[in-house]
Amino acid sequence: MADKSLIAPDDFRQIYDLFQASISRFDCGRKCAPLNGGEPVCCSTQHAVPVVQKVEWELLKSRTDMWRRFKPYDRATRQIVKEIGSSCAAVECKGARFCERDNRSLACRAFPFFPYIDRAGKFIGLAYYWDFEDRCWVISNMQVVEAAFLADFVKAFEFLFQRDPEEYDNFKSHSASMRRVFSRRKKPIVFIGREGGFFEERPYGKGIRAIPAARLPKFGPYRSDRAYERALKEAQAEAAAVERHPDPHPVGDPARASA
Ligand code: SF4
Ligand code: SF4
Repeated sequence: MADKSLIAPDDFRQIYDLFQASISRFDCGRKCAPLNGGEPVCCSTQHAVPVVQKVEWELLKSRTDMWRRFKPYDRATRQIVKEIGSSCAAVECKGARFCERDNRSLACRAFPFFPYIDRAGKFIGLAYYWDFEDRCWVISNMQVVEAAFLADFVKAFEFLFQRDPEEYDNFKSHSASMRRVFSRRKKPIVFIGREGGFFEERPYGKGIRAIPAARLPKFGPYRSDRAYERALKEAQAEAAAVERHPDPHPVGDPARASA
């Protein structure tokens, strides 16, 4: 691994070339969008503010006008922007209807997964961003993840870590946070192995073992067809209520829900 960051915009071009496979053959946005006002959850800044390295931002600006700097709209999003390191930028795209597949950020391509680094420092698989358990359909359906996606994911992040060891450190620390959170929950971390297959890491360092697809976890509205139908009805009722009584708080009002 390199000693210091050598990363440049052209490296992200290579990363994009390495990482082109779709996560699944199924358009997963068709599952989460109906519960989220018609927008895929990961493409909505109401749920997640995309953060990219400034060198990646340089590349994106040179390739497309689909992205712009993110404008915070409430106290929570102002805080997110404030906490971003000086080497990163908060950005937003024009939305799913205008998505240019070749100009998606690395985070878009990888979502909902991040490289999982074990206690010994090995990149052993793909863990998911646990804050999205109840919103991202893929997290409850990890069996749909394609082998080609897995291979591209690993190649892209190996390359990124080689060019930018700080990114490796960030994901190592994020993986350790996940272990702490799941130990507190007394739940195993379920992840996809870098060569395929499903695994669980038991809380408090009690080891990793393979699990069958039938034991993959399911969350929130994706727990069952019935739970999904119920959530869909609730989302439709909420949308109808908003149509009858529009939100009195304009965008930018601190009273709005945070991202
Ligand atoms: S990755 Fe998850 S949040 Fe994004 S579109 Fe697919 S199901 Fe929705
Ligand atoms: S670039 Fe595409 S995938 Fe990424 S957030 Fe925008 S619409 Fe979603």
